[in-house]
Amino acid sequence: TGGSSRPFRVVLLGARGVGKSAIASIFAGAADSMDSDECDSLYLCSLQDEGGSSQDQCIQTGDAYLLVYSITDRSSFLQASELRISLRQRRPAHHTPIILVGNKCDLVRRREVSVTEGRACAAVFDCKFIETSAAMQHNVWPAFHGIVQQLRLRRDTK
Ligand code: GDP
Repeated sequence: TGGSSRPFRVVLLGARGVGKSAIASIFAGAADSMDSDECDSLYLCSLQDEGGSSQDQCIQTGDAYLLVYSITDRSSFLQASELRISLRQRRPAHHTPIILVGNKCDLVRRREVSVTEGRACAAVFDCKFIETSAAMQHNVWPAFHGIVQQLRLRRDTK
């Protein structure tokens, strides 16, 4: 294979408090434990919803995106939709790996967004969908591997 290329830049987008930092720290551990020969080091960039130039730069230079909302916070779900739209405007390339992530799925009694809604939204967004719990470390690895797999596929077909 082509040896070590530049690190993939994975951007976590989402409203404040949805769990981006919690997910990123689990990802960072996963990236460290990967085989160094095919090291896909990840550059993580967590963004809040306020906009600004650092957000623009991060959006424009990402290789893959996690659009994170909290299943306990409907407004964060709506913000994920807005972020998807600005992503499409500023990053119009097809096949950019994007996963819609419904985090905090351990908080079942505080759920405001159903799995069905999340899945339907991802279908409209034309992206993958997964529910995670960073607190329980549930499904964070599959999300991570999903992104890495999509990035590799894309790199290998270039
Ligand atoms: P960020 O602002 O998006 O980076 O959110 P943080 O990662 O700082 O998380 C915000 C709060 O939500 C913290 O108190 C976390 O401990 C908590 N949190 C994050 N992920 C989960 C989760 O999956 N389940 C639960 N119950 N709490 C979570």
